[in-house]
Amino acid sequence: MNIALIAHDKKKRNLLNFITAYKNIFSKHQLFATGTTGKLINEEIELEVHRFQSGPLGGDQQIGAKISDNEIDVVIFFRDPLTAQPHEPDVSALLRLCDVYKVPLATNVASAEIIVRGLEQGWLNWRSIKESTVNYDE
Ligand code: PGA
Repeated sequence: MNIALIAHDKKKRNLLNFITAYKNIFSKHQLFATGTTGKLINEEIELEVHRFQSGPLGGDQQIGAKISDNEIDVVIFFRDPLTAQPHEPDVSALLRLCDVYKVPLATNVASAEIIVRGLEQGWLNWRSIKESTVNYDE
C-alpha cells in the first residue's frame, strides 16, 4: 500500500514516535511524505520515504494530486488543531480529496493506530480492487 505521512510542526515528534512504534508495519509499505516530515522520517527512523515539497510550499497539493490519481491508499496526517497554518486551504483540499476518493484518513494518533492495525490485518485490502468497484459519485 502507498501511505502518505504528514505532520504539522508541533505534531512532528508525535508522528515520529508513532512511526517508530509501528516501524515493522510501515517498513512493508511504500511511504510518501511532505518535505520536512519525510526528511525527519528518513533521518531518524531510517525508513525509505518519497518526499514531496514541504507542505506550505505545495507538498499537500502534490499528495492530493496522487490521491486523485488513485495512487495513495492511506493518509496519516497529524494536524495541529491549535495553530493557524498559512497553507490551510491546501490542508482542507487534501482532506476533501480523501473523502472524494474514499481514502482512509487519520488526523490524530488514536485513529492512526486503528488504521495501521487494520492495515496489518488486511482490512484495507479492498483498496487494491477499489477502482473497479467503487463509484466515486456515491
Ligand atoms: P512539512 O509539511 O512536512 O514540509 O513540514 C507539513 C505541512 O505543514 O503540511
